[in-house]
Amino acid sequence: MPIAREMLSNVQGSLATILRHELSHAVLSFRSGGRSWPTWFDEGVAQYLSCRKRDCDQFRFPPNNGVFTGKEDLSKPFVTLNNVDAGRAYLHSLYMVRLIVRQTSLDDIIARIPATGTLTSEVLAEAARWDSYVNLWRDTNYWWTEKKEL
Ligand SMILES: [Zn+2]
Repeated sequence: MPIAREMLSNVQGSLATILRHELSHAVLSFRSGGRSWPTWFDEGVAQYLSCRKRDCDQFRFPPNNGVFTGKEDLSKPFVTLNNVDAGRAYLHSLYMVRLIVRQTSLDDIIARIPATGTLTSEVLAEAARWDSYVNLWRDTNYWWTEKKEL
């Protein structure tokens, strides 16, 4: 993990956030037995667990919330998106994870994933007690469009 020298002078600032974010990815990787998570879940959880101060209590919408990222784009690696779309996808992933943890805990979701097989968005949605990923995405899209606080 590359760390700029100037980040070392402020251990409570961005360095702490980055360390929590990357550690979250490591924990998720361990919990999946090395299987890949859908990107929205992996990045959403990493952001959720590395929040800082008042960002933890309430999601902060951008001034113009725009269109919610498509369900296919949220599931694939964000490096395949351009920078603007990738930035939105990160934000939307966090929002989706904040929605599912209203229903059930992350530990409960992770405990419910199958021991083997590919961890698709469908598998994750069902572990989060939604009937399908399409409906999870549709519900999240609705909440986002309505700017509902999470
Ligand atoms: Zn990440």
